[in-house]
Amino acid sequence: MAQLQAVKGTRDIFPDEIARWHYVEGVIRSVAELYGFNEVRTPVFEYTELFQRGIGATTDIVGKEMFTFQPDPNGRSLTLRPEMTAGVMRACLQKNLLSQSPVSKLYYISDLFRKERPQAGRQRQFTQFGVELLGVSSPAAVAEVLTFMMQVFSSLGLHDLRLRINSLGDLDDRARYREALWDYFMPYQNDLDEPSKERLEKNPLRILDSKNPALKEMIAGAPRLYASLKQASVADFEKVLSYLDDRQIAYEVDYLLVRGLDYYCHAAFEVTSSELGAQDAIGGGGRYDGLATELGASKELPAVGFAVGMERLMIAMEKQGLFTTLNPHGPLVYVVVQQKGLTDHAMQVVFRLRKAGLKTEIDLAGRSMKAQMREANRMGSAYVLIIGQSEIESGHYSLKNLETSEQTSLDLDALTGVLHEAVTQESARP
Ligand code: AMP
Repeated sequence: MAQLQAVKGTRDIFPDEIARWHYVEGVIRSVAELYGFNEVRTPVFEYTELFQRGIGATTDIVGKEMFTFQPDPNGRSLTLRPEMTAGVMRACLQKNLLSQSPVSKLYYISDLFRKERPQAGRQRQFTQFGVELLGVSSPAAVAEVLTFMMQVFSSLGLHDLRLRINSLGDLDDRARYREALWDYFMPYQNDLDEPSKERLEKNPLRILDSKNPALKEMIAGAPRLYASLKQASVADFEKVLSYLDDRQIAYEVDYLLVRGLDYYCHAAFEVTSSELGAQDAIGGGGRYDGLATELGASKELPAVGFAVGMERLMIAMEKQGLFTTLNPHGPLVYVVVQQKGLTDHAMQVVFRLRKAGLKTEIDLAGRSMKAQMREANRMGSAYVLIIGQSEIESGHYSLKNLETSEQTSLDLDALTGVLHEAVTQESARP
């Protein structure tokens, strides 16, 4: 029988890599703590309708990338979440969270599923971290989430990122813009590719998202949304930019950056890294005040957020050599048993040391003493504790420091004290 393999577009993460995940997640959680964002976890699957309404039926995600299934013939269609915003918004509306406090500041680190063609930096199961700030979406709130995002990047040491930002204005601004785009693209109708022809009818803004190189020049010549913005929208955007200036966050205004759905408004942004090749987007976000009503809420709920792809973030970090110092710590002490019959006694010692909070390892495979010593060294243990017949009889065990080769003989209480002292000294090291 053929040996089974993981599904294409998914990957396994083993302990040697997991240290990186814990480190990056730890930085995200500590920045979230600083900014007062709390973690939210929502179900991995939702009713398909949530994403149809919350992401938009004309998007690629809903059109062709969702893992959708029907649990039973008469049941409602379900979908593995392809993004987090719709689910988080649904959860907050369902719990009526905003009735308890006018503002909700949430973050997540969650797995997502999209049926995309797998390639470097593009998987079918991947992880995003992101935030959703609900209840207010003033320029200050936009600047708050942007600053949070950039602080995570700088805390991780990532550099050479490019932050592009644009304003999508409000509904009126975009209605005017849609007309301007239609007037611009109509004469080129026959030069457009099929998806763009369709978008011209349904939502011409999305033509600007096209990655087709043949359309690049035509798109570059399109009128700018910015030119359609009313004064209040311009002022709103300039305020966001002035916050970024004050905080010395570098950005470029990119008038072609759009999010084609109606519920997006005002600020929209994207971060790319030159380390990533074709899939160079690390994250993006913006304001989506109209999403709540799209999901059935009786009134608009101001909202702003972003999402960052963890895998791409970590690929960029790897390329910049930011993981080199990240070696998982070995055990503090490895208990070595001189002969087989003593294992049960040794296990009791291990249990007592662990209960005392000391990171202790023992061989579970009944290997020779030489093999146990080799394993202690391989794991990078600081000490070995040797247990033989005479040690058990005297109640004194020999503790060997593997760095200095110094050896002492101590009873279990004294030994625990010495090991605790070693931990304290280690953690006090700069
Ligand atoms: P989006 O939700 O499409 O705006 O994506 C936000 C971020 O998630 C992107 O900038 C990527 O870093 C990451 N991302 C999106 N799709 C994938 C995927 N299929 N595989 C890996 N990362 C992804």
